[in-house]
This record gives sequence, structure tokens and C-alpha cells, in this order.
Amino acid sequence: MPLSRRRFLSLGAGTLATAVAAKLAFSRSAAAAHPTIDPGTDGHAVSTVCEVCFWKCGVEAHVVGDRLIKIRGNPRHPLSNGKLCPRGVGAVGLAYDPDRLVKPLLRVGPRGSEEFKAVSWDEALSYIANKLEDLRKKYGPESVALFNHGSGASWFKHLLSAYGTANFGAPSFAQCRGPRDVAFELTFGSDPGSPEILDIGHSDCLVLIGSHLGENMHNTQVQDFADAVARGADLIVVDPRFSTAASKAKTWLPIRPGTDTALLLAWIHVIVTEQRYQRAYVEKYTSGFDELAKAIVEYTPEWAAAETGLDAEVIRATARRIAGAAPASLVHPGRHASWYGADDTHRSRAIAILNALLGSWGHRGGFFRPSGMKLAKVPTPAYPKAKPPADRREGEAPFALEPLAQGLRRATLDGQPYPIKGWFVYGTNLIQALPQREETLKAIQALELLVVVDVLPAEIAGYADVVLPEAAYLERFDDLVPIAWHKSGVALRQPVIPPPGEAKPGWWIARELGQRLGLGAYFPWTDVEGYLKERCKLSGIDYATLARDGVVLAPDKPTVVEDGLALTFATESGKIELYSEKLAKAGFSPLPKYERPDGVPAGYFRLLYGRAPAHTFGRTTNNRLLGELAHNDRVWINAKVAKDLGLADGATVRLVNQDGIKSAPVQIKATERIRGDCVYMVHGWGHTAKGLRYAKGRGADDAELVSRVKVDPVMGGTGMRVNFVTLQKEA
Ligand code: SF4
Repeated sequence: MPLSRRRFLSLGAGTLATAVAAKLAFSRSAAAAHPTIDPGTDGHAVSTVCEVCFWKCGVEAHVVGDRLIKIRGNPRHPLSNGKLCPRGVGAVGLAYDPDRLVKPLLRVGPRGSEEFKAVSWDEALSYIANKLEDLRKKYGPESVALFNHGSGASWFKHLLSAYGTANFGAPSFAQCRGPRDVAFELTFGSDPGSPEILDIGHSDCLVLIGSHLGENMHNTQVQDFADAVARGADLIVVDPRFSTAASKAKTWLPIRPGTDTALLLAWIHVIVTEQRYQRAYVEKYTSGFDELAKAIVEYTPEWAAAETGLDAEVIRATARRIAGAAPASLVHPGRHASWYGADDTHRSRAIAILNALLGSWGHRGGFFRPSGMKLAKVPTPAYPKAKPPADRREGEAPFALEPLAQGLRRATLDGQPYPIKGWFVYGTNLIQALPQREETLKAIQALELLVVVDVLPAEIAGYADVVLPEAAYLERFDDLVPIAWHKSGVALRQPVIPPPGEAKPGWWIARELGQRLGLGAYFPWTDVEGYLKERCKLSGIDYATLARDGVVLAPDKPTVVEDGLALTFATESGKIELYSEKLAKAGFSPLPKYERPDGVPAGYFRLLYGRAPAHTFGRTTNNRLLGELAHNDRVWINAKVAKDLGLADGATVRLVNQDGIKSAPVQIKATERIRGDCVYMVHGWGHTAKGLRYAKGRGADDAELVSRVKVDPVMGGTGMRVNFVTLQKEA
């Protein structure tokens, strides 16, 4: 019987989880003749840190012998407060996934054929080390790039920094949060962080712009969101789709996709021209208000109504409500902000400026400053000086804070400014994570070495020369995990169960490679626990307490001005920069600018994508336990539009994009909950890798339809909502 969502969520403390987990536990090894686990048992709890998404909640993993039976939230960890999201609970399904990588693999067929032979660790690591030596001699160490996601990548960054490259491209920057981080850095001198430093629980007014909290299931944020809703906070949701969050809102604004900056500018117009901003705060902490006030005059609600399709009076009224709740009024900065390319940084700047006018930065119910805890480093030799990353050309994307993943791909293709010949890929399925797949596939074929380190054989593994099976987070130590929240501190990721087969932890793999490359001095420890103990000692943290509780917290410090926090800003002026001299000097508009998106071609729909609560994109779609909650994707389309197309709810279609790329068959969800000019799907479905025996062939892959991007000229983000699809009915 499939599990209902409500029933599943109760599993964190329930017995059914034990039964399901036990079933999965037995499937790892048919030979392991374990007795039936008593469904009522709690087993023995080990504290560790979740890695199913980047939020890094503290968990208590319950084990019987060496078998994991359930996972619950660590009540001592401030990011979980004893609760987890469904993915955290369902990670039992990852530990016992029968498709796990369990042996090092060496490619024997052409790249992409997914043909490998199993080899020993010694053979796999020696092969990689020899190739790395070869690349260093032929092209220099900078010819190797790392594409990464997740905290376990720190071991490989350390290894490759010691090797001599600085080419580290996380798709999470240019393809996701980059425009937001850059905009907030430019405005406040620091970004909203990860997890975001939002005091949602105390907000009296919360505005969500395309952020679908509840479907975007980040544990603490959703707990705080539930508190705000329960307190009756004024919730305004801007989304072309009636999301779960919109269903809790007082006002849903079904905006025309791509026109959000126009709405934000009109809100700023109302708040400034009607003098509803926090005057004392703005005078004390901001610079450039006069320039802003002058520039904003033209952006009336009537002007924005024509752009957004919203009612001018509703724009005016919502602006007044937002200002009326200040300073406990929060315009959520979002996370995935690479939408339309042309004005993404400007849109995020408008959000930042709006928050500044509301005085929410530093105030309860707005943005807080984490109390912080300093962690010492275990000394290792200085890294050799590396060439600057190869991702950008002269003058391109001058405000990028990190190397651009798609820029490293381009350097792989054209050898400029210097050749990239080797890729390490850690924890990211580049086939789905990067837009313009053809480019990725061409770049892969041009490589002399492709190493994939992962726990499951996703599509990218099928192209690797060497696949290294990593222990999942429940089976390994990682470096100390800092907690930057109201209560700050440090958490420990430690093994709960042994890894399957020959899978090894990332720290071991990196250290072994380091030794083969003559970089042993960078790993001055024999086992990782010795390293962690040393780091704790240098940081004044009691390791035994950390291992027992999973977390050690720093003494409380004020995190909002109401509690005594002094506001400082790390901008050049030391103020919140409403008008950005930095942008002006670089030739960009110093104030947010709206660019109308390209219109939707006749007969097409704009392709929108997002998250679902039970999944972290493609990372979890093979999880059979989470599959009980959602095992497929459906494409949302407006019910009236579907009827006009002769498509009933549940009909099977293929999406065909503007370049003729056709998706796998997928069912439609015909619903009034979405505008008629767009369709929506969840990112991460539509796997084709044959090793993902559960996920393969389920749903369609939105990423393959993203054959076009518009690049944000400020920071290089790839706007991906510039693709359009038609629907072809399947027999
Ligand atoms: S939000 Fe969920 S998946 Fe992410 S770290 Fe927390 S429990 Fe794990």
C-alpha cells in the first residue's frame, strides 16, 4: 500500500519506518540472514548530520547491530529541533539502495556506453594518479577542474588545491544562487547565507517571490514558515503557479513569468513616494537613497500592472501591507535565482533594496546575523600558487564570486585561456545540473580524464573513465560541519553503519590519491578521526561531547538589534548601498533595472521547473522509500488550456522545445493552479542511466529541454527560464 504524505511524515518517530527500513536493510545483502527486527525497537541512536540536501540538519540515526532502522531529528541541533523533512527521514532508502556503487569501476566501452569493469582500489587510484601526473606534465596542474556539490567535496578541493589548480566550479553558483548572493553582497556586504539567515518565524509579513516553501522543503525554514502562518503573519506569494505556500497566503499574485522586477520596482515606488520606508534606519544605515528616489518615480503601479498582468490597486495595497509590518517584514531573497539571465542580479538587488527600506536587515522578523563560532584549521603546507580559474574571459561577468561551471566547460571545449583536460566530478550529476547538454557531452568527449566520485550511478557516471564508489553520509566521517544560525556551533558527521561492498569515504579516497601524487604532507594524519580530534582540540571543542551529542553550541550572542546586535556592513562605504558605485564603475546600472522577457511564441508555453517536498532533485529519485511518496513527475498545465488542446488530466504527452528537443513521455496534471502561458515540472526526474533501476524512465527530464540560456552579464548566471515547449499527445 503506498504511504500517504501525512503518514510518511509521522514515520520519523513511528514503527512503520522500522519495518520498511528493515525490508530495505535486508535487500542490501541477500546472504545476510538477519532475524526480523522488532518493529517496536528504537535501537541505539548515533548523532550525525544529514546530507540529502545542503541544509545539514542534525539527525539521530537508530541502529540495531550494524543495521540502520530509522532516522529522526536531533533535538539538540538548532537546524532540526528534533524534526526532519521527509527526505531526511527517508534517507534509510539511500543507505540500502540496491543500485549503490560498491566497487571501483574502469571504463571499457566508449564514453557514455556505461560499460565498465570492476577493479581494485589500488588499480583505480593508481590509474588516476598516473593520469594526473601525465596531465600536470603535459598541460600544467590547472588543466584539471573539479565540479562539486555537497560538503564532502572539501577533501577533493583540498587535494586538488595541493595539486595546483583553482578550477572549482559548483553548478550551485551560476545555475542557482549566484545572482542573489552577488546582489546581496553588493547591497549589504554579505549574502543571505546557506542556510539563509531569515527570521521567518517572527515575521509579521512575509513575501515569497517564486519561493515555494513547503515544496522547497528546507527543514528549519519550513518549521519557521509554519510558525509564521500559525501566528497569522501576512503572507503574500508571487508565483505563476498556485503553490502550496500560495494556498496559505492572504494574497496570491499570479504574475506573468519574468516580470517580477517590475513588481518589485513598483513596490519600491509606493513605499518611497508615500514615505512608508523606515526613515531613521534608512538615514542611519543606507547610502544612495536620493538617487533611488529619483529613479523610482517612473515605476508606478500602473506601469507595473501592464508588465506583470497584476492589478495596479493590488500592487499598491500589497506595498502598503509590506511596509506596514516593517521592520518585521521580510521579502524572501529566494535561493534559485538564475531565472531569465538579463536582469537576475537586478531583480535580487531590488529584493535587497526593498528589505533595506523595510529595515529588516538585522531586525527580529527579518535577517539576523548568526552568532558564529570560530573553527581552527589543522596546519598543512601552503598550497602552490595556481593560475586564475579558466571560466571567464577578460571583462566577462566581473562580479562572479566563484568560478562558473559552464565557463570551465567552455574552456574544456576551446582550450581558452588554457586547456582543461581532466574533470573530477563529486556529488553532482552534471548531465542534469548544467544547461545546454550538448555542450556538456561535447566537452566530456574532449577530456583525457573524467573521474566521478559518487554513491549512485547517475548519468554522469556513465561517461567516466573511473567511477569511485563513495560511502554515503551515513557511513562516513566528513570534516567538521559549522552551524551558522541563531544558535551557532559545530556538528559532527560520523559513520552510523558500515558502507556497502568496497565503498570508501571521501577523506580516504582523497588522502590515498594525495599519497600517490607525492602530496602526503597535506594529509598529516593516518585516520580522519585523529584529524577531527586535533581540529577540535585546536578549536577548544570537546570531541567526546561532540561525538555523543552530535553538536556543540557556542555561547549565545545577540543576532538581532533588539537583543543588542550592532549593525555593520562590509561594503566599501560601510553602509547599505542602495545605489551601487561598484556596478556603475563596471558599466552596469547602479540601480535595479527591469528587462522585459522575450514573449512566449504562439502555440508554446514557457517552461518552469521547481522542487517537490519528497525529493532533492535527481539525488533522491532512485530512493525507493521516498518513491512511496512521489515516484513520478507530472507536468502542470492550466486546465482550460489542456481542455482546449484536447488533453484530459493524466493524459500522456511529450514536451518538445523550441529547438525540437523532445522529452520522454510524461503525464499532465491539468489544474486551475497555474497560469495558461506556462507549464511547470519538478527538476530531477527522467533519468536514463541504466544503473538507476528504480528512477530510470520515470517522468521527464526538464534539464534536457533547457537548450538555451541567457547569461547574466553582471555575474555569469545562466537564466534557464527562457525555453518554450509545446505538448505532443502520446498514443
Ligand atoms: S532539510 Fe531535509 S534533506 Fe535537507 S538536511 Fe534537513 S533533513 Fe536532510
